[in-house]
Amino acid sequence: MTDKIDRQEALAHAGIDTLAVRAGQVRSAEGEHSEALYLTSSYVFESAAEAAARFGGDQPGNVYSRYTNPTVRTLEERIAAMEGCERAVATASGMSAILSTCMALLKAGDHIVCSRSVFGTTSVLFTKYMARFGVDTRFVDPTDYDQWRGAFTEKTRLVFVETPSNPLCDVVDLAQLAEITHSRGALLVVDNCFCTPALQKPVLFGADLVIHSATKYIDGQGRCLGGLVAGAAEHIDEVLAFIRSAGPTMSAFNAWVFLKGLETLRLRMDAHSASALTLAHWLQAQPAVEKVFYAGLPDHPGHELARAQQRAFGGVLSFRVKGGREAAWQVIDSTRIVSLTANLGDAKTTIVHPATTTHGRLSDEQKAAAGISDNLIRVAVGLEDVQDIQADLERGLSSL
Ligand SMILES: *Cc1c(COP(=O)(O)O)cnc(C)c1O
Repeated sequence: MTDKIDRQEALAHAGIDTLAVRAGQVRSAEGEHSEALYLTSSYVFESAAEAAARFGGDQPGNVYSRYTNPTVRTLEERIAAMEGCERAVATASGMSAILSTCMALLKAGDHIVCSRSVFGTTSVLFTKYMARFGVDTRFVDPTDYDQWRGAFTEKTRLVFVETPSNPLCDVVDLAQLAEITHSRGALLVVDNCFCTPALQKPVLFGADLVIHSATKYIDGQGRCLGGLVAGAAEHIDEVLAFIRSAGPTMSAFNAWVFLKGLETLRLRMDAHSASALTLAHWLQAQPAVEKVFYAGLPDHPGHELARAQQRAFGGVLSFRVKGGREAAWQVIDSTRIVSLTANLGDAKTTIVHPATTTHGRLSDEQKAAAGISDNLIRVAVGLEDVQDIQADLERGLSSL
C-alpha cells in the first residue's frame, strides 16, 4: 500500500506522457508489470457481514462489474489524470457517454444549446430522443458567439460543442464559450474526440465535462467501442449512478485495449498531425482541388486559435474538389490503399463523402448551412507513409 501511495504522489506532478503510461495502475499481489485484465462480472466477499457492508456502501470495494471493475477503474483514473479532471467514468461507447451525461444531469423541461457541427448521431440523439423526454435543443453556428449568446433560455442547462469540428475543422474559442455558458449558469460539455488530451485539455479553458469516443484515437487501431466522461466528482458521480442503474458499462476487455492505446497516444497524435499537415499543403497545390479545410493551414480562419488551444492540429482534414458529387466520388473510388469507411482515429487512413454518408441525414438547407457540399471529401489521416496516401488521392484527382 505504501508503495502505491508513494507512486500516486510522484505522479501528481507528472507530465502527460508519464500519466498516459502509468496513471491509475494498482498492481495485484502477482506483481504484474502490464496492467491486469480483470474479466469478472462479480466479486466475492469474506463474510455475509462484508457483503452487507459493500452493498450498503459502508465499505469501499467491488460488488459488480456493471459499475466497478479494476481494469476499467485504471482507465478512468488515467483519463481523469490526463484531462486534468477530478474523476472520469467509462461507458460502452462514445454515444452512451453522451446519453449518460444527459440522463444524469438533465430533466424534462431543461434545454441544450449545441453546435450545429457535431457528430451526426449526437444531433439525432438530441433532436429525436432527448426531445421525446421534454429536453429541447437549439443548434448554432459554432464560431458565431452572438448566436451562442442568443440561444440560451431560462432552462438552458447544457452547452455541447466539438472543436475542431467535423468535417470542416472549425475551431471554437473554448474560453469564450465557457464564459458565456457560466454567465448563464449552464455547464459546458466538450466532445474532445478529435484532439484527445494529448492535443487539447478543455478544462484548462473552463469546460465542465469532457466526453470521449474512445473508439477513435484512444484505441487508435479500430478494434473496440468505448466512451468516457471526465469532470468534477459531483457531476461524474451522477453519471456513474445513472450507469449503475441503466447499464451502458464499458467491458473490462475494451478498457484494457484502451489502456494499451493510451501508452502511444501522444506519439500517434503527433504522427497523425504531421502527416495531415503535409497532406493539407500538398492538396492545396493540386489543380483539381478547390479548397482545403485544416486548421494547420495558416489561411484557415481558426489557425491562430488552434495554435493557442491545441498542441497540434490533429489528423482529420477535408477538401472540396472542382466539380460536384461525381468528381468527389471519382476521387474516392480511384483509391486503392486508403479505406472507404466512416470511422476515424485509426492507424489506417480513411476516406468518406460526408454529404451522402455521415451527414446524409441532414436536409439540403442544413447541409448548406454546415458547408457540407457535394464536392467535399473527408480524410482521417492514418500512420502510413504520407507519400503513399498522396499517390492514392492523386490517381483520382489527376483524372478530373
Ligand atoms: C464517433 C464519435 C462519437 C460516437 O462515438 P461511438 O464510440 O461511435 O459511440 C461521438 N463524437 C464524435 C466526435 C465521434 O467522432
